[in-house]
Amino acid sequence: MTRIVLNTPLAGWACPLAEVPDPVFAERMMGDGLAIEPTEGVVRAPCDALVVGVAPTSHSVTLRIADAVEVLIHVGIDTVALAGAGFTAHVAVGDRVRADAVLLDFDLDIVAARAPSLITPVIVVSEGATVEVLARDRLVGWGDPLLALTVAATVAVAPPAGDEAIHVLVMPLPHGLHARPAARIVALLKTHAAAAVFEAHGRTADACSMVAVMALGVRQGDELTVRATGTDAAAAVEALVALIEGGMGEAHTAPGLAPALSRPAGTLIPGIRAAPGFAVGTVMHLTQSTIAVPEAGAGPAIERAALDAALATLGGRLAAMTGLGSEIAAAHAALLDDPGLSVPASRAIAAGSSAGAAWRSATQAATTALQATGDPHLAERVADLADLEHQLLALLYPDAAATAPAALPDDAVVIAADVLPSQFIALDHQRLAGIATAGGGPTSHVAILAAAAGLPMLVAGGTALLEVAEGQAVILDADGGWLDPSPDAATLAAAGDRIASDRRRRPAELAAAQAECRMADGTRIEVFANLSSIDETARAVEFGAEGCGLLRTEFLFLGRDAAPDEDEQAAAYAAIATTLGDRPLIVRTLDIGGDKPVAYLPFVPEDNPALGNRGVRFSLARPDLLDIQLRAILRGVPGDQCRIMVPMVVAPAELAAVSAALDRALVAVRRRHRPQLGVMVETPSAAVLAGALARDADFLSIGSNDLTQYALAADRGNPATAALIDALNPAVLRLIALAADGAAAHRRWLGVCGGIASDPAAAAILIGLGVTELSCAAGAIPAVKARVRTLRLADCRALAVRALACSTAAEVRALAPPLVEEAA
Ligand code: PEP
Ligand code: MG
Repeated sequence: MTRIVLNTPLAGWACPLAEVPDPVFAERMMGDGLAIEPTEGVVRAPCDALVVGVAPTSHSVTLRIADAVEVLIHVGIDTVALAGAGFTAHVAVGDRVRADAVLLDFDLDIVAARAPSLITPVIVVSEGATVEVLARDRLVGWGDPLLALTVAATVAVAPPAGDEAIHVLVMPLPHGLHARPAARIVALLKTHAAAAVFEAHGRTADACSMVAVMALGVRQGDELTVRATGTDAAAAVEALVALIEGGMGEAHTAPGLAPALSRPAGTLIPGIRAAPGFAVGTVMHLTQSTIAVPEAGAGPAIERAALDAALATLGGRLAAMTGLGSEIAAAHAALLDDPGLSVPASRAIAAGSSAGAAWRSATQAATTALQATGDPHLAERVADLADLEHQLLALLYPDAAATAPAALPDDAVVIAADVLPSQFIALDHQRLAGIATAGGGPTSHVAILAAAAGLPMLVAGGTALLEVAEGQAVILDADGGWLDPSPDAATLAAAGDRIASDRRRRPAELAAAQAECRMADGTRIEVFANLSSIDETARAVEFGAEGCGLLRTEFLFLGRDAAPDEDEQAAAYAAIATTLGDRPLIVRTLDIGGDKPVAYLPFVPEDNPALGNRGVRFSLARPDLLDIQLRAILRGVPGDQCRIMVPMVVAPAELAAVSAALDRALVAVRRRHRPQLGVMVETPSAAVLAGALARDADFLSIGSNDLTQYALAADRGNPATAALIDALNPAVLRLIALAADGAAAHRRWLGVCGGIASDPAAAAILIGLGVTELSCAAGAIPAVKARVRTLRLADCRALAVRALACSTAAEVRALAPPLVEEAA
């Protein structure tokens, strides 16, 4: 008999194995021992030993002690799925180590954020030792005696004689033969007399030894030979194969790995997603006729009257517009009154121009001025000016404009150089399948209208688009950023199946949209809506929004002559809060400036507005406006419903300044209840400093639109760079992972409110990275909820690890293609 004392290998709370949330450990399938809830991330040798196993993912080590017993130290539960992230091994198989030598270390924050548990079993995995527990239910430090093992003298066992059976399989388990499957295999073999071995990679391992099985390093997809000898060899092999091929509870399909429609190569016309979706349809070209106008007028009084009448008619028409496009119509109506147009038009009429020529010269001068700014967002407003020019000239010269709009074929894919908002509104949406434009930008008004109508839209496709023949059947994948101008029959049929499957799924998604969103394993994920107007709120609630994850308050400030006062703001916030019922409302403080200038606030022209005076920088430069807004939010939104979020933060000091302003506002409105104050992570520095921000913030929310543009140095509004913009780029995902680590370190929740949250295909990766709230475009909520309900956290974490290891967005998207209905 030999007595061996094992010291504590890592500091923490010692507890019985029964407390480990995994039956393989808790039910002692691997052997007896103890578990430690670690307080530090360094694992040391509990005594002098030989290293006989190190997991390829460095999350576990097996030691042979006194040439007699084998002990496994397995950090955390399901940590194999981290694929090594956060772990570093300091020893290799064959190393002889002294007591206290460092075996491996791990980043507590990363592992805590991504694994279900950090609890670390220390298990005697070999036969023949009795285990005595020396420390339990208390804190232990390195070197404290933990277990005493009494080892019996070994008895040589003759190999069983009898039949031999053999079977070769391809390893289906997502993480190969790691500790848990190995334990189940050993347990199964205890019920058989036969001796079994595994062969892989040219090596053989005793299937009854967990250590040997793990040391084979068999991964998913590897070939494994199962061989048994003995009286029940055939039954043993059959049982082993059934156990492995049955998946051992690990082999359910990983998220995002549903079969995807393969992306046809070569002939595709690339473009930029302006509105999400996928369509198959028939090409219809939409052209914009130029209305001929007389240069000379019939006299200033007559032309002035004609222009005023046309302006009044158009103004009335825009004001009367309801539903889709009413907000854009309101912006157009404001432009009609803009002195920047009316003054030069009046001057031209006074100088002898016709009303039409005067209006055209005024809109075109404004267009030239906008284009000269070089700001792509302003350049996109050029389409609005062109639209107003066309609509007004059509009223002034109805005969010249009279070209009856061509009827759309069923499932029309409209192709155009650009589409004006009024043209879009006039199209028969029942027949429209999607839109693709040669020019345009992803943040144009038409793009917003298309997204609101649920129609996919691709922009910046270039002149190749204009060459696609009218009547041609095409596939438009706005999500993938391409149009296939000449798909073959099989590709068309597969695309048609995908659309039919989407349509079949939609009623069920809508029916389930009101229910709370939980993953298949019960994990709660909040699915919220992004809102930027009062009108949108009711629709979002209908689609199942469980709250508002981002209220873009700019809607109150744009398209007017003066900033809204405190009462007006409070009333607007109150209206949204009331419509949301008791659902949480996250109000973002003003994010104007830079790319969203407002005429009545003094902005100095900037060369790089996206890097300039915007978001929280503007708010801190104008504390008067910030104070008004914070008071209005506190007055408008009830205490327990209210959360506040700060945009464009790069430093903790900015959060501290807003936090101080919030304190001032609380005193001013005599409110005691302080709402949660969160930070948008939309700059690389906020992601890198997420830990420091999360210390003082109540939550973090990823603004993936800006985070992507800043991470990839690609302007989110510039058609020339927008092909680079994909929030699933691994560079962006790594920043999100940093934000998740920072949030987890301070136990803060992490959400996503950028556009990527609306993409059901991205949900698994985002959740795997640590996100628990997805704030989507209202229309996307039913599909996102449906997708989340199919997912399991452990799979998502594994998928996220794989995504982080990719080097391109395309590789990541190949891991997580759009959801395709599984075969019935
Ligand atoms: C973002 O940047 O992702 C975001 C949500 O903010 P916005 O799109 O309003 O800039
Ligand atoms: Mg932003």
